[in-house]
Amino acid sequence: MPAGDPPLTLRDLEAIPVSRLRGVGEKKGSALASAEIATVLDLLTHYPRRHLDRTREASIGELRAGDEATVFGEVRSSSTRQLKGKRTLTNVVIGDGGNQLTLTFFNQRWRDKQLTPGMTVLVHGKCEIYRGQRQMTGPIVDLVGNQTGRIVPVYPQSEKSGLLTRDLAAFVEEALARCRSRGFDDPVPTAVLERFGFVDRAAAIHGIHQPETLTEKDEARRRLVFDELLRVQLELVRRKRRIERETAGIVHRTEGELTNRFVERLPFPLTRAQQRAIDEINGDLVLGRPMHRLLQGDVGSGKTLVAVHLLLVAVQGGHQGALMAPTEVLAEQHHAGVAAMLGDLSVSDPATLMGDRPLRIELLTNRVGVAERRKILADLVQGKVDIVIGTHALIQDKVEFAALGAVVIDEQHRFGVEQRAALRDKGDAVTAPDVLVMTATPIPRTAAMTVYGDLDVSTLDELPPGRTPILTEWARDDAGEEAVWAAVRAAVADGRQAYVVCPLIDESEALDVRSAEETFSVLQTSELAGVRLGLLHGRVTPAEKDEVMGSFRRGELDVLVATTVIEVGVDVANATVMVILDADRFGIAQLHQLRGRVGRGEYASRCFLVGDPATADGEARLEAIVSSTDGFELAEVDLELRGEGTIMGDRQKGRNDLKLASLRRDKEWVTAAREVAIEIVDVDEELDAHPGLADELDLLLGDDDAEYLMKD
Ligand code: ADP
Ligand code: MG
Repeated sequence: MPAGDPPLTLRDLEAIPVSRLRGVGEKKGSALASAEIATVLDLLTHYPRRHLDRTREASIGELRAGDEATVFGEVRSSSTRQLKGKRTLTNVVIGDGGNQLTLTFFNQRWRDKQLTPGMTVLVHGKCEIYRGQRQMTGPIVDLVGNQTGRIVPVYPQSEKSGLLTRDLAAFVEEALARCRSRGFDDPVPTAVLERFGFVDRAAAIHGIHQPETLTEKDEARRRLVFDELLRVQLELVRRKRRIERETAGIVHRTEGELTNRFVERLPFPLTRAQQRAIDEINGDLVLGRPMHRLLQGDVGSGKTLVAVHLLLVAVQGGHQGALMAPTEVLAEQHHAGVAAMLGDLSVSDPATLMGDRPLRIELLTNRVGVAERRKILADLVQGKVDIVIGTHALIQDKVEFAALGAVVIDEQHRFGVEQRAALRDKGDAVTAPDVLVMTATPIPRTAAMTVYGDLDVSTLDELPPGRTPILTEWARDDAGEEAVWAAVRAAVADGRQAYVVCPLIDESEALDVRSAEETFSVLQTSELAGVRLGLLHGRVTPAEKDEVMGSFRRGELDVLVATTVIEVGVDVANATVMVILDADRFGIAQLHQLRGRVGRGEYASRCFLVGDPATADGEARLEAIVSSTDGFELAEVDLELRGEGTIMGDRQKGRNDLKLASLRRDKEWVTAAREVAIEIVDVDEELDAHPGLADELDLLLGDDDAEYLMKD
């Protein structure tokens, strides 16, 4: 690479195969390939997993029996002994100053050759004292090479590829040396770097791989994290703007008799959060571009009302509204609830004698009979149906609207971007309906900015007043479980009702059903003998289901034993006890949803988690549910426990550009990157003035990645 050429862009780095580096022969080349490192760009973005400060790591002399630690040492000697049978024992002695540690390996004779005297190694393991000597059995060993710096980067190792930190550090060193004369291009505007006090890109690439101090490494990381997040946000903001520009929306009339009457008749005032969300939505509705908004709110925060308000805005302007729910149960529940709320309202209709007619709300699911369905479809096309509520059935080709004005998608389990788009496309050819996506599984704001980057976000962060908080208890042994059933019997004796949820086993519906059936029959003859029990699971026929739900609602059953089919939509105010069996098998969001099935009326409610978790994560989940009823707080814990995989989907590592950035650790940078992306895109949507950034988006966020970011 001759000097005088312009600084290297990421695309330039992508064009240099690692095989051009000295020391990368066939063997190392294929090891690199198996770690998906084919180019110098891959190599330089294969970041250290962690950085060790030599001066701060434990030294061998400090190790006590039982300590699990990482220590540096120099190999002093090694030897292998033959044991009985074909077994071998290799002892490698390492030391620092006057202290020694013996590493023992069984059947790893190759360690003799790998660990030769004089070499510096980093070992991680548990220290034992054996015959008065410090020893580690089968430790993790990394060869860090002859690194003399205070800070040692440790690269992700994979047993399979056999790449050691030593190799990677040497390749990186050579790559950096060869890039030195040209330097690295920095496409991020200087003003942005100055505003956040970022180091330039060259310093960042050097600083992450070869820092002199931990501060230097931190600064490097911060800069690289920002770059990753900025690229993602630029892509998302550009898409959002493009959709806004390319599609015309309906200019709705947000003030009108229908919405006024609806709000007046509510038996309670709107919460401040509901009012704020309605205002935000109305702000979008009067614009000539379609709304694209996410409504986040905890279980019971009153999202439905906000959604219904939106549908009524559409209807009072002569349009139609649609609400799509993820399951039939939920669609039916919404339909019943909305019909009860709006049933006696009327809409103006000049074609009738009185100048108006009753508001018409229909349900459209696959369970609606053929004849009825045909009629609903015909009436939808003619504009005789004002609001239609349904499942996926709504996005089938046969469904056409006279004038679809607003769409609400209850994305309990996330429909994904295509389905959202499919319903949006049911508007007429000229104007797109306004879309509100509701989710009861809130995700932290910064995560929403990434996962739902194409949507604006409204948040209901307040519950309606007068709710008695749900008391959550955890029963982890037999005595605890006894107490749970006693509490259920006591509630029933008081005239209240309860749910008993059986866990999902193995993703198999058949097994789920069996577990529910078994629990039902056991309870019937033991702890809950004499109590009126009902059973509900995914295999009962719709008619049976309606009957069971109806009986429970009418109070003819005391306890409903069910699978997670009741996770969404069941709303019985008299039910005050939720028992979740094998609770550790559920995720945080699901537990929180299930708990949200009680606490819906005037009575104090309780939720019992029954389970003795086998894992630390299971334990942490149940602890979180016991200690908080705040869905947003729980979402943070969930993100903490499960990592971004939960919301980003766990796609195999491919070209996903978020290599360093963590949506939970780097929240402030998500926000900063979004701000900067908006600033840039608002004045330069095509990034004409930022060709370097445009090129990086093109290189790193191919269409696949961008699509992916917008899906679950
Ligand atoms: P979500 O869909 O967010 O879980 P819902 O819309 O089902 O919540 O509302 C839960 C309950 O709260 C419903 O019974 C509803 O009637 C009631 N509710 C909604 N808004 C209010 C309010 N502002 N004040 C009192 N109760 C409300
Ligand atoms: Mg509009």
